[in-house]
Amino acid sequence: MTKLPKFISSKTAIIIAAVVLAAYLILVLTVVNLGQNKLKESQHSELELKVAHYAYALSYFFDVSQDNIRVLSVDQTINTFFHNRNAGMSMAYGLGTSLFKLKKLLKQLVVQRRIDNIPIFKQVSLFNLDGNAIVNNSDTPLTLTVKEINKLRQKERYIQVTPTGNTISIRLLQLIYLNGEPIAYLVAEISNAMIIQQLTAQEHLGSGSRIELTSDRGNLFIWDSLNKATNHHLNKQLLQLNQAISMTPFTLRGWYEPVNNKDLFTSHWFVLVLSLMAIPVTLGLYFLLRIEHNNTVLQTQVSLSELQQQQLSIHNYQLEKEVSKRKASEKVLEYQATHDSLTDLANRNYSLKKLADAIELSKRHHSKILLMFIDLDNFKHINDTLGHSAGDQVLIESSERLLASVRKTDTVARLGGDEFLLILPDLKNNQQATVLAADILQLFEQPFHVQGHEFFTSTSIGLSIYPQDGDNPDTLLKCADMALYRVKDNGRNSFSFYNPIMNNNILRNVSINRRLRYAIENNKLEMYYQPLVDLHSGKILGAEALMRWTDEELGFVPPDEFILLAERNGLIHQLGDFALTEACQHAAKWQTIAPIQIAVNFSSVQFRDSHGLLAKIIAVLDATGLPHDKLDVEVTESLLINQEDELSSMLAEVRRLGIHLSIDDFGTGYSALSYLQKYAFSKLKIDRAFVMNLADNESDRSLVTAIIAMAKALKLKVVAEGIEEQLQADFLKDLDCEYGQGYLFSRPLPADAFEKLLIADNS
Ligand code: C2E
Ligand code: CA
Ligand code: CA
Repeated sequence: MTKLPKFISSKTAIIIAAVVLAAYLILVLTVVNLGQNKLKESQHSELELKVAHYAYALSYFFDVSQDNIRVLSVDQTINTFFHNRNAGMSMAYGLGTSLFKLKKLLKQLVVQRRIDNIPIFKQVSLFNLDGNAIVNNSDTPLTLTVKEINKLRQKERYIQVTPTGNTISIRLLQLIYLNGEPIAYLVAEISNAMIIQQLTAQEHLGSGSRIELTSDRGNLFIWDSLNKATNHHLNKQLLQLNQAISMTPFTLRGWYEPVNNKDLFTSHWFVLVLSLMAIPVTLGLYFLLRIEHNNTVLQTQVSLSELQQQQLSIHNYQLEKEVSKRKASEKVLEYQATHDSLTDLANRNYSLKKLADAIELSKRHHSKILLMFIDLDNFKHINDTLGHSAGDQVLIESSERLLASVRKTDTVARLGGDEFLLILPDLKNNQQATVLAADILQLFEQPFHVQGHEFFTSTSIGLSIYPQDGDNPDTLLKCADMALYRVKDNGRNSFSFYNPIMNNNILRNVSINRRLRYAIENNKLEMYYQPLVDLHSGKILGAEALMRWTDEELGFVPPDEFILLAERNGLIHQLGDFALTEACQHAAKWQTIAPIQIAVNFSSVQFRDSHGLLAKIIAVLDATGLPHDKLDVEVTESLLINQEDELSSMLAEVRRLGIHLSIDDFGTGYSALSYLQKYAFSKLKIDRAFVMNLADNESDRSLVTAIIAMAKALKLKVVAEGIEEQLQADFLKDLDCEYGQGYLFSRPLPADAFEKLLIADNS
């Protein structure tokens, strides 16, 4: 994804512009303000200066004017006049001339003293000290009060202000001396126009000013150029400046309009407009910033979503990894679920699925499928004698041989234990099946080499064919199983086709095999206990543990039946372990009630691995805590025809450990007395068959009598099985048979029921 153009630079530019503008505005406002203040200040000082200048000029003017008058007062003409008058000179003679000259002098002053062609003096008069005029060339005669004359005597000269109507008249008074004595005074009236001229030199109509010359006797209006319209409003804001004019009774008073009210560029309005102008500019900047902000937000969102996408892709990657890991482990699991771990062949379920697929295909092609159920004949023996790893070797090699002999399209599966299944599609006819089966048989005629041993095994093969024997995997497998069963029954190392007329017995056995596996895996087996009693006292001395199995499909299955089958398919080992453990556990518990002995039945098949069995027995006794001498191992005569040293030493070891041995079903088998001597048996159990007919059958009675006698001779206790009637019990007692077992005393009972019986028996 390409990056959007950055707005940062324009944003910065906008911010800088805003800052600069703000600074500029502040500066302008400050400058305007400062300028205004400065202007006000400078106007103020300018006006002050101006007013001061006016005052100075006026002061100077008065000074000069007074000096003129003073000079006049000592003029020769005036002096001569008063001399002449004092000398008593008459008007007609010299005094008249003197007066004429005097008048001329004064007139001359008025005419000649001018500034800018404006006469300074309006008129000049001369008075006697009593106020009578000597010379008065004015229309309005000047007068002087006594008070003024006195003041004049003290001051010699001063400026007199006299109100006249709206205005004033200004006069300079000067005392005149003759021979050091005051004799008269001069009065010179200053021209108001002259004063106005002096004070308006720098004024013009636009200056917005008003000037008055004030005194306590009245004011002289000089100038007014104030804006009359605004005068009223601005009155208060007018700048007023007062300046006393030195050496005079006057104060110059000036009013000036403030500069900003006159100047647009420094007016409040201008500042206001400037400030208002800042508003649109600020707004513009604000919107620019908003746009900029939106851009930034957008950009942030874009980069945020970029980040999210990145994180998402990381997530995705991890997820993909996880998924592929899972897929891999699922594959492994799937493989494990569908394949046998030892041989890598398809397992039972998977092979059945493959068979289903093959059936579907055959349906379309109208072809046949051959099923071969293969079982190694003496595999259990190999396993028992050479151990499991040797057994595993045989299984692996068997699977290799099978794989090597079939086509790619065929399936080789291991169903469990030493059972293999071949699925061979596209079977042409039964003839071909025969050939194939014979080939497989031949495969196993080759010897196996395991752990330095060479040995032979044969196989039994059951065959079934789709569609003639069934149209689904289950049925076809069952058929092949039954065919196999028939081979086993007929002496093994052969093959057989499924025959629908196979007897029910075989069908049932196949079912029992199947259901027994299920029963073991799902704990459907139970141990019952039948008491063994002392025939004389009737007391319970022990119990025989008997296995019970009630199947959901088959119902109650008698132990004789399933144990026989279990001996064939190897399940007997698991059944044996279960019986031993259960019985010992219960017996150990019951020791607190009575020191009873528990008899457990052992199949001859269990002794094929006699060392393993012994170890198992010891382990169970240790685990349950049952004393050795409370276990009675029941074996049948069939075991004892095996004369192997290993078995002998094992049985001897059992006895040495204090565990009891009993010979079961005595009289039904070989009944060779020699083995009775060889192994130290504790008890001999007379089979039920002989006890059953004791009362009626003479030969049975003599046989039982003989057995008991023989047992006595061998120091064996005798147990009579299957006592159902009191008569039988009595008869056996008479024959000196010690112990008995049978429905007369109790049927085999579940553990808790037996426990109750035992408690009752001991109370
Ligand atoms: P067994 O060892 O001879 O057991 C005695 C059988 O006689 C039992 O049959 C028992 O129920 C039955 N019985 C006892 N008293 C009477 C009676 O008064 N009348 C009649 N009619 N029968 C009586 P069960 O329990 O059916 O067992 C049959 C056989 O199955 C046993 O014969 C034994 O060989 C075998 N078996 C039972 N449990 C086990 C076991 O846990 N392991 C092995 N290996 N075999 C067992
Ligand atoms: Ca028994
Ligand atoms: Ca028996």
